Amino acid sequence: MHTSDCIFCQIAQRKIPSEIAYEDDEVIAFKDNQPLAPVHLLVIPKRHLRSLNDVTSEQEPLIAHLFGVIRRLAGEFGVAESGYRVVTNTGTDGGQVVGHLHFHLLGGQALNATIG
Ligand code: 5GP
Ligand code: ZN
Repeated sequence: MHTSDCIFCQIAQRKIPSEIAYEDDEVIAFKDNQPLAPVHLLVIPKRHLRSLNDVTSEQEPLIAHLFGVIRRLAGEFGVAESGYRVVTNTGTDGGQVVGHLHFHLLGGQALNATIG
């Protein structure tokens, strides 16, 4: 997929507006526009990777960095102590809708404990 066809690439390039919570050279975080919880952020690598399946060993430091960003955002959005959930849906059975790797950060309420 060309990045001009990808909604999250366009958000990362600020061609589509979003409420950006964090940005650096590698990673951008923004509010989900259909939030499922009081805190619902999407944290993504800026480069287009379709899913976790596309991450190479060389890119694993990027994923570690991304999780550091998630941890700090949980603190900034006030859910570190109360608790939160990080989710990455992968592929059809995983319920992935947007084909650009993203991690949901959900919190601010007791979350439903069911899987699937
Ligand atoms: P998925 O099911 O692929 O893991 O989740 C995709 C998420 O992206 C959904 O929670 C959906 O609400 C969010 N989303 C889809 N399009 C947009 C958009 O244009 N802007 C923002 N901020 N979020 C989006
Ligand atoms: Zn993309």
